[in-house]
Amino acid sequence: MHEISVLYKAVELAEQTAKDNGIEHLSYITLEVGELSGYLPIFFEKYFPVVIENRPVFEGCELKMIRVRGEALCRDCNALYNVMQNEGVCPKCGSRYKKILGGQQFTLKEIGFEE
Ligand SMILES: [Zn+2]
Repeated sequence: MHEISVLYKAVELAEQTAKDNGIEHLSYITLEVGELSGYLPIFFEKYFPVVIENRPVFEGCELKMIRVRGEALCRDCNALYNVMQNEGVCPKCGSRYKKILGGQQFTLKEIGFEE
């Protein structure tokens, strides 16, 4: 599972950001997970409690996720389509020749805290 190692990195980044800004407690963190990143949100949910264990800043912290659609532009007919739903094939002309426009990212989007 690649999810656990990237989740560790995101949690460490959030922890460091909190520390640098004098934030004692995070109420939530938001991850942006692209459909084409290869990461499955279900694993992030599963591993989050394990990864935040023994990190007091995350006590009761909620994990939020934004799923970003995998969009592509067909290079043959210029149609815009969803890669996952169409299995990578343009629904208009049947071409596989495309430019991926989004959905490959994995980022720590936001951290939330209360004063
Ligand atoms: Zn097309």
